[in-house]
Amino acid sequence: MHPRHTVERALGLSAQGRSDRQVAELCGVSVGAVRKWRTGARRARDGADPRRRRSCPRCHGRPLDAAAYAHLLGLYLGDGHIVREAKQVYRLTLYCDARRPGLIEEAARAMALVMPTSSVGRRRRKGCTEVSSRSTHWACLFPQHGPGKKHERTIVLEAWQQEIVARHPDKFVRGLIHSDGCRGVNRVRRELPGGARWYEYPRYHFKNESRDILALCCAALDLLGVAWRFNNRNELSVARREAVELLDRHVGPKY
Ligand SMILES: [Zn+2]
Repeated sequence: MHPRHTVERALGLSAQGRSDRQVAELCGVSVGAVRKWRTGARRARDGADPRRRRSCPRCHGRPLDAAAYAHLLGLYLGDGHIVREAKQVYRLTLYCDARRPGLIEEAARAMALVMPTSSVGRRRRKGCTEVSSRSTHWACLFPQHGPGKKHERTIVLEAWQQEIVARHPDKFVRGLIHSDGCRGVNRVRRELPGGARWYEYPRYHFKNESRDILALCCAALDLLGVAWRFNNRNELSVARREAVELLDRHVGPKY
């Protein structure tokens, strides 16, 4: 038997997103004990809290924050991953650039708004921060989940997702570009009678190996009235001045 404060400390560390092994080392107990406390606590919580039993917008008709969902869908399609951890538990992970704390916080906020009954963990990895959350219902919210890489399977939005993207194309594009795109500056040298001058042109890029995801990005940009073109088969750019200005209002540089 372990003292109550050890169990509570372990549960607290787990809730911060640490692995069972790390928690076990920190608390000086076995990995099995940590796992048992963690899953037992979740079962007890699931049973005790009626909100958890109605936690899914798809299964239980819970209201969904559509703007946050459109944003999270963009982030997921850009750089997200869903794995099945147990029989009915899915972990949604977004891989965020560790140098962009603003985007890490924004990703965590979107996740929490979409699945308010699950806690959001952050974990530093080499060069990136993983933002993740566990729920039995992530696969209901992201039916594009499947084995293998996203560009190796067909990605089609369901009608309810299309409806949300059509209502919030700005949020969807923000998610896509802040995960798999960027706002860069092209510097161009011009020879003028008075000498050479440098001009700077901001532009947006979105790069993805999935043709389906590129097409979804194009369709959302069309809805926003933003002109785009393909640079090559897996990358599109937005370079026209008024189009860049429009995107600056909805997306902006990574921060
Ligand atoms: Zn569900």
